[in-house]
Amino acid sequence: MFLHLYTNNIDNKEHLAIVFGGHIRSRSLDAPREGETEMDRLVRGAYTGRLYPGRTKSREEGGQEDDQSKDGGTSGGAAQVPPLVRIHSECYTGETVWSARCDCGEQLDEAARLMSLPDNKAGGIIIYLRQEGRGIGLGEKLKAYNLQDLGSDTVEANLLLRHPADARSYGLATAMLLDLGQREIRLLTNNPDKVRAVEGPNREIVVKERVAMVPLSWRGQGGFRTPEVEGYLKTKVCLSLSLCLSLSVCLSFLFHLPLSIVSASPCLSLLFAVLY
Ligand SMILES: [Zn+2]
Repeated sequence: MFLHLYTNNIDNKEHLAIVFGGHIRSRSLDAPREGETEMDRLVRGAYTGRLYPGRTKSREEGGQEDDQSKDGGTSGGAAQVPPLVRIHSECYTGETVWSARCDCGEQLDEAARLMSLPDNKAGGIIIYLRQEGRGIGLGEKLKAYNLQDLGSDTVEANLLLRHPADARSYGLATAMLLDLGQREIRLLTNNPDKVRAVEGPNREIVVKERVAMVPLSWRGQGGFRTPEVEGYLKTKVCLSLSLCLSLSVCLSFLFHLPLSIVSASPCLSLLFAVLY
């Protein structure tokens, strides 16, 4: 598993790509940088294979990774099948303590489990976007939780706080997937709107297959069964099924704006990758 850390010129946050499979390489990471030494490349993560004490070269001579890194991992049998991709938005409360308000922690774990399965030769990528609380931040999310205790659902609570029902955007996810050499993916999601959002306005990326995420509790395999989570899931399902005009307008506005900035000035830069 590799952890790629991205900076960008849209916000001041560091977004992550958690990559399963050594054949998936980052172009901005592998690209040589002016004046850098082999040690510089090793330290910032621009190497193939594994690190070990005494290693001096960033590229393993004659290694399988050499061929894979040249074309971004699009050659070879395993890479013929698009990788599984999950777009995950940061949720401090759900991931750290499995808050009973949502199923984010469970979904993050489940996505990683599916991508790690031995028969998933195509690998996987979790794009971890730092847009806490559907993009409104942790403090505002906690206020929304209090409004939910007072009787609102997740959408109503955001609107009462004068935030959009969903302030997330996915332009950076599209840019990160392109940097990772992926033009075709299998997307793990229950939300059809996410398919369109990740593909980009000009279908820079094509979702070849949508793979459903089934909550563990619905499969009788544990997970949370609390009134809060059931209500949260019910709201999510209702949102997915109903064509809510105002939400669609809101989503497309939020989505197109940052993506056009990304397209006009592509300066995503990769800081480093860590193997663990
Ligand atoms: Zn959550």
